This record gives sequence, structure tokens and C-alpha cells, in this order.
Amino acid sequence: MDRKSFIQSSLLIPFLNMNLQDFESEVLGKAPLSEKMPVLFVGHGNPMNAIENNAYHQKWAEIGQSLPRPKAILCVSAHWQTKGTQVTFMERPKTIHDFGGFPKALFDTQYPVSGSPQFAQAAIDALREIHVGKDLEWGLDHGCWSVLKPMFPEANIPVFQLSLDYFASPEQHFQIGSQLQSLRQKGVLIVGSGNIVHNLGRLDWGGKPFDWAIEFDQLAKTKINSGDFKSLVNYDTLGKAAQLAIPTNEHYLPLLYVLALKDKNEPMHFFNEQIDMGSIAMRSLFIGRD
Ligand code: ZN
Repeated sequence: MDRKSFIQSSLLIPFLNMNLQDFESEVLGKAPLSEKMPVLFVGHGNPMNAIENNAYHQKWAEIGQSLPRPKAILCVSAHWQTKGTQVTFMERPKTIHDFGGFPKALFDTQYPVSGSPQFAQAAIDALREIHVGKDLEWGLDHGCWSVLKPMFPEANIPVFQLSLDYFASPEQHFQIGSQLQSLRQKGVLIVGSGNIVHNLGRLDWGGKPFDWAIEFDQLAKTKINSGDFKSLVNYDTLGKAAQLAIPTNEHYLPLLYVLALKDKNEPMHFFNEQIDMGSIAMRSLFIGRD
């Protein structure tokens, strides 16, 4: 008897008080058929984290190994802002080295994954309330590949990106994020990549975290823990520390996409809670697991 007919004919299921999916998962050790993918917000920080074997890089690698294998990855990166919302639709996205002044080794780094027009179309369908353009020019910026390469070094999971509409309000970004929920059931890992505190003008290489950086990082932690996402959407009302933490909001906005995808009572935990270079919070969030 093959495995499928064994399950179909099994009289064990009712006795175990399980549905077929749980039976497969728990008794046969198979991933559930429609397992809802976790969602990640990743503080990416210095592009060198992509190739330096430091604590951030190691944690990304560890998380990659602990995740159920995604069918595709959708990345919302701080480094792709466009007029209107766009989704990458190419079969082979190029690795974009959108930075300057770094070692040749970083410019030589490639992340040769395939794209996923199929799941990009699923994202367009999920976002039917807004117009989403199909992009064939962009590729993968470093907000995306610097994190995904350590997480999934084999480069064998398709990746596509969703842009940040330069003209949308934080509330609109949150709404767009919430509409991506169905992709989780389809096996798509959604990764927001930015930094909760990101002030390049105040960068202090090797310096201690600024008081205002600690203050806003802790405030964000408290509000995420209490589910007060509304105040995080209205971050411009959160005072002086918020102004210094978010001088421009492109690194902060990917967090709103991720928060919008958290179901009530869904478990979550933080990782990489350090503040790097004085003014860059690496605080990251894993939704879907304690
Ligand atoms: Zn960045």
C-alpha cells in the first residue's frame, strides 16, 4: 500500500481525533499541506553583513535553517521606492549593488536566484484594490539579497520584490501589507527589510548607541509587544526620539508591512536586538513562532 492510500484508508485518524493535515504533520512528520508561512522583519544595516561572518549574519543563517522551506520569497526592501507600487516580474532578477565605498568582494557578490512571475501575479491579485505595475528592470537590491543570501545560501528559492510607493502614506503602506495575507497560505515567505532606527547622518562607526536611538528602539519594542501598531503607523506623533530615529521613512516602512500581517494572538519574537554604529537598530521580528 502506498502512503496516500494508507492515509486515505486509515482508521487511525478518527481514533486519534485529528484531521488529515494534522495526522500527516504529526504522525508522518510531513509539513502540513497549507502551512501558513511565518513573516520576518529584518534589520539589514551595513551591507557588509552579507559577507562578514558576524553575529547578525550568523543569526540570519540560523533562521534560514529553522524556517519551513518557502515556495517563494517576497521581499519589501527599504531600497526600492517607486512612483506607485511595483512588483518584480522577471524570470532572472539581477543582483544590484546599490551602494558605494565598499570592498570589491561585496561588489563581486551575486545572489543568482530565479524570480517568480507566478507568485508576483498572486501578489498583484491579492492587491486588487491598488494598481500594481509589473517591473522588468529592477532585480534584487542589497536590502533584499544581503539578508537572503546568508539565510538561504543555496539560492534555490525564487525571490521577487514589492516596491514602496514613494507617495503613499504610512497608513496606506500598512493597508497594502495587510492585503498580502493570502500569500502566506500559498507558501510565500514575506520579508520586510529595513531598520527601525536608521539615521545615516548620525552614524558613529564603532560608537555606542545614542540615547535617542535606544529610546525609540525600546518604544517600538513596547508597542509591538502590546499590539499598538496604530501608534507605530503614526510614528510622527511619537516625539523627538522618533524624529531622530526616522529622518526619512524608507527603512521604517517595511516594518509596517510585516506588522500588518500579524494575526491577533499569533506568536512572535525579536532577534538581533543590538544597535549598530550608534544610530542603526538591528532589531528584527519573527512572526509565527515564539
Ligand atoms: Zn539599507
